[in-house]
Order: sequence, then structure tokens, then C-alpha cells
Amino acid sequence: MSELAYPYEAPASQALFDRAAAVTPGGVNSPVRAFGAVGGTPRFMVSGTGPYLTDADGREYVDLVCSWGPMILGHAHPEVVAAVQEAVARGTSFGTPAEGEVALAEAMVERVAPLEQVRLVSSGTEATMSAIRLARGFTRRTKVIKFAGCYHGHVDSLLAAAGSGVATFALPDTPGVTGAQASDTIVLPYNDLDAVHAAFAAHPGEIACVITEASPGNMGVVPPLPGFNQGLKDACAANGALFVSDEVMTGFRTSRAGWYGVEGVVPDLMTFGKVMGGGFPAAAFGGRADVMAHLAPAGPVYQAGTLSGNPVATAAGLAQLRLLDEAVYDKINATSAQIQGLVGEALSKEGVAHTIQTASNMFSVFFTDGPVRNYADAKAQESFRFTAFFHSLLANGVYLPPSSFESWFVSAAHDERAVQRIADALPAAARAAAEATA
Ligand code: PLP
Repeated sequence: MSELAYPYEAPASQALFDRAAAVTPGGVNSPVRAFGAVGGTPRFMVSGTGPYLTDADGREYVDLVCSWGPMILGHAHPEVVAAVQEAVARGTSFGTPAEGEVALAEAMVERVAPLEQVRLVSSGTEATMSAIRLARGFTRRTKVIKFAGCYHGHVDSLLAAAGSGVATFALPDTPGVTGAQASDTIVLPYNDLDAVHAAFAAHPGEIACVITEASPGNMGVVPPLPGFNQGLKDACAANGALFVSDEVMTGFRTSRAGWYGVEGVVPDLMTFGKVMGGGFPAAAFGGRADVMAHLAPAGPVYQAGTLSGNPVATAAGLAQLRLLDEAVYDKINATSAQIQGLVGEALSKEGVAHTIQTASNMFSVFFTDGPVRNYADAKAQESFRFTAFFHSLLANGVYLPPSSFESWFVSAAHDERAVQRIADALPAAARAAAEATA
């Protein structure tokens, strides 16, 4: 993009980015933060309050990323902060069991019926990695089915997201993932049950599990077609495989019981992260007690973590979960619908082809006439329009995920003032999208 495409400056963020690039690959600790897809200077944030983030240049943004999902109550919620302060004062890590981990596990099990037992870990990646290992250990099989466009963290075997041409013989997408790891992963198009049945028929007795995002948000929001998740569950049951539902993004966000609460399909194993950690590194996997019984020290499948069930993280997560009652979800869903309406209106007014897809309060905007049912559909959008749209909003104080393949996230703290600021910024952004060229 030309320099004119970034009609504002962020000198303090740029200086920090330059410093960061000297000591950290690409200047960031997680790739999408680098603005690689949209260009420009990534904003270095110094504080967050409610629906707002403030960057190093002192500019305030309405935050529609919410730390990629966790900050469902907004930033620095007073009750979460108080719980953290209280926990920190009692010590930050014991390396022993502690009551907070029990209370958090109980709160999860109480909310999500298929969760009979949970094991706490520190990241969503660790959760899916461990769930896959457990599924393999339990079934004594090696192969895993995943879907193109679904992200389950940077687990070696789950990074294989090969396009349709190499779906059957998944190749390593990333240097460092061996052919052996990738060849145990079967990558299929999302929302395609026929492909799942064909894969089971082609690999009898070999498939340990099917893992899917409960409702995908990592190729933009692409909800399962009616019957898809149940079809996966049934195919797994018929073939002696486990159905693993990844609720790292949807868990405790799309409802009090996550996507399970919306759809009611019962998985064998589930994975969680984000909201359950209240902004701290806490995640989990769990499900059927007879499967979880195979996990060390109860069973032979090894899994461990120095900081698993960390007392500060569990205090934050528990405080956040306790505040998330039905009224809060109703409010977030209503705010999300309001923002979707404003975005759709602004883009329609400028004649920009778009499709807004939702999964309760998660939503994303695809720059294409829909519907978007899988990764191939998502990739067919006019992403160059998103880039222009993104930078216009950023310049006017609205912080979107810096990629057209991500969900937007709303919090309970997004009030009328925050929504109005988005509404005020949208007309120019829609115009920028309309005028953008590839
Ligand atoms: N699974 C899903 C569905 C995710 O969205 C993510 C992260 O965005 C992960 C797993 C990995 O979680 P983490 O980034 O905590 O490792």
C-alpha cells in the first residue's frame, strides 16, 4: 500500500516496534499482532479500561478484539482485578494443588454438561495438543481428522491445513513440522460430511479422533451447517473414534455453556482457553470421565505443567465466569447485533459486497457475497477491501482484528458511547472499502 493509505502516525508504537524487532523475531510474540496482513505499524498498547485500549502514543481505541476473545467483561473489570490482587498477595505459584483450581474446574463442570472431568493447562495450544495425545492413547490409533481453516493452536500435527489438492496426504505447511507428523493428519473441507465419511472408509480402524472448532472463528466466523457437528459425532461413534470439540474460542463466550450450550451436541473431549482465564494464561481440556481416567497420574497418558492451575490465573478465571450470567450474555449478544447492523448498513450504503456471519455474539465481515461455508469460500473474499476498511477504522479510533480471517469480539463493557464511536467511524471506512483497489 502507498504511504497515503496510512493517513496518521504512531511514532511511539513505531519506536517500540523497532526496538522489539531487534530482540524478537518480527517484533511480536504472536504473528498476527504484527499487522502482516494489513500493513502499517502495530499498535503497542499501554492500558485497557472497559471497551477501550490506549496505545503508546496516547490514542484511545474502541477495542473489537478483546485480546482475541478473553476480555468478555471488558478490560480491567474491577471485580476481576480485585480477585487477582487478592490472589497475588497470597503468592503467585505454589507447585502444589490449591483450592482455586478445584473451584475453577467445578465451575466449568457445572456449566458444561459433557465435561465430567477437566485438566487445567496454560494455553489453548497445550489443551488441544494434550487432547489429541489422550485421544490417541485412549483409542491406540494414530490418525486425526481436522478441517481446513480451523485453527487449534500451533500443535505440530494440527498446523497441517493443506488446501483441497493435498487434503488426503497433508503436507507440512510449516518448516519444522515433519512429514510423519503431518501424514497422520487428514485435512478435510469444513462443513462437508461426505468427506468425513469417505476418510473413515479409507482409513478403517486408524482414526483416533476428529477435532473441529465447535463453531469456527479462525477463518472468520463460519458456523457449522445444521447437523454437521452431530454428523461428526455420529461418524466418530460409528467408527470407534473420539469427537473432540475445540471450544477455546467459543467456550463461555457464545453462551454460559459455550457452543455446546447453543447446539447441544455432546463431544467426547472438549478444549477451552481464553474466557476461562480472565485474561491470564489458563486453559483446559476435559470430557468423558472414562477417557480422562487414562491421563497421568490416574492412567498412562502423560501430561503435566509447572504453572498449570496457577493460583492467580484461576482466581481471574473464576471471577470472570461467576460474573457471566444470562443477563450479561443477552447484553453482549444485543450489542454485537447492534454493531453488525451498523456495519452492514454502512457497507450497503457504499455498495460494498459483504456477508456478515455470526455465532451468537461472535461475528465477522467477509468482503464477498456469501454464504461462506468453508475456508475456500473465505479465501475468495476481496481482502484488499478489508485492509482499507481496517486502516480507516484504526485512524478513527476503532481497533479491529488486523486480518479478514478473524472473528470480531464484543464485551459487556461496550456501551452506547463505544457503539456510537464505531457508528461515527463506519461511513468513512465503508467508503475506503468501496474505493479500494486490489
Ligand atoms: N483453538 C482455538 C479454536 C483457538 O482460537 C486458539 C487460539 O486462538 C487456540 C486453540 C490456541 O490457543 P492459544 O493461543 O491459547 O494457544
